[in-house]
Amino acid sequence: MGSCGSCGPAGGGPFSEGVELVEFVYCAHDGAVRNAPIPDGGLNAKCQGCGEPFVLKTFVGKCPKCGGVHAVSPPRCDDPANIQFAGKGYKLPGE
Ligand SMILES: [Zn+2]
Repeated sequence: MGSCGSCGPAGGGPFSEGVELVEFVYCAHDGAVRNAPIPDGGLNAKCQGCGEPFVLKTFVGKCPKCGGVHAVSPPRCDDPANIQFAGKGYKLPGE
């Protein structure tokens, strides 16, 4: 962690925002990052779609209530303020 700022798909990066960040994390390291557990048990998130509080336990996760897709990039996963929301109605690639 911490040295992977330039190996993602073109366009996105760990400091992107919104859906660009979500897709960057989703695709990073051929998908190895998205299901990796966030250190210290996860981040206390609040759904940016419906307002439901939930714990983001992996770098890409969904709101348990509305399914809204949220993600945080590994270099920024120490602060819930860095969680990015893909937008209402967004579906992950392949779903
Ligand atoms: Zn929600």
